[in-house]
Amino acid sequence: MTKVILITGCSSGLGVSIAVQAAQAGHTVYATMRNLSKRGALDTAASEAGVSLNVLALDVQDSATIVSAVGAIIAKEGRIDTLINNAGAGYVRSTEQALEEDISWVMDVNFMGVVRCTKAVMPYMRKARAGHVITIGSVGGLVGQPFNEIYCGAKFGVEGYMEAMASYITPSFGIHFTTVEPGGIVSEFANSALKQIEASGGMLDDEYTPILQAYIGGATSRQSGDVYQTADEVASVVMDVLGAENPPVRCRTSNWGEDLCQLKTGLDPDGKKLQAKIVEQFLGQ
Ligand code: NAP
Repeated sequence: MTKVILITGCSSGLGVSIAVQAAQAGHTVYATMRNLSKRGALDTAASEAGVSLNVLALDVQDSATIVSAVGAIIAKEGRIDTLINNAGAGYVRSTEQALEEDISWVMDVNFMGVVRCTKAVMPYMRKARAGHVITIGSVGGLVGQPFNEIYCGAKFGVEGYMEAMASYITPSFGIHFTTVEPGGIVSEFANSALKQIEASGGMLDDEYTPILQAYIGGATSRQSGDVYQTADEVASVVMDVLGAENPPVRCRTSNWGEDLCQLKTGLDPDGKKLQAKIVEQFLGQ
């Protein structure tokens, strides 16, 4: 079945790959980004793939732009079958070093952005008694990592949010919720995080410095190992989730990610057993 799909954060990286692969699969794609002047990469990828996309402005930090984009899609298509919450931003600083305004921004983009977009599509999906919200989380939403506590906190939040939604909205209204949990993706993500650090005082020289150096040194070897996937590889996992009859609550995108999270996810890799238990314990079904 062809679907009407709204995707956030399509100016680069994974958002571009998901938009193109979804259009190649025949779906009607609404690729959104906060700044339409950055649509060049998406336009180039779509043209190389020979697909056409609808491009709209949407800033996940600005409810008015979300409501406007959702309204435009509903007016044209009458429905949104799938929301893909892809927009996100990294942040690498210890809690002591982090500026409070940066902490608020990281939580707002990575957590509140997901809630805002989901809230905007829910009335239409609920009326349709169908729909699928796919959120791009991270292995950092399951496993806390050095200097990433603020980002991990936001991505852990996304995990709890999506799991709670799945516990009663899936059985009641037939809307599915899946968190896709990549490891590393080759994209603008690390560059954007570095720019953010530069803009807020650069790397600091303090007691954390040797620990940070060990972390950064490890990052170099992680980049040459099997940690990082291309955006196209991760997008193909998202396509599998999109096409699933009975979508998972969560899924990793690589063997490396699966291994890293094994101690947390080993007994229930796709989250379905826990979902059934929550429904039984809290809703008596
Ligand atoms: P990316 O190339 O940096 O893309 C991030 C996208 O999010 C960009 O389009 C960016 O737009 C957008 N964005 C940021 N703030 C936004 C806002 N307020 N409103 C709307 N869009 C906004 O990184 P990526 O790797 O493709 O990231 C995609 C997702 O994967 C994110 O959720 C990220 O947390 C997750 N992830 C990434 C990695 C990794 O290693 N890269 C690993 C695990 C999970 P601008 O161009 O305007 O900034």
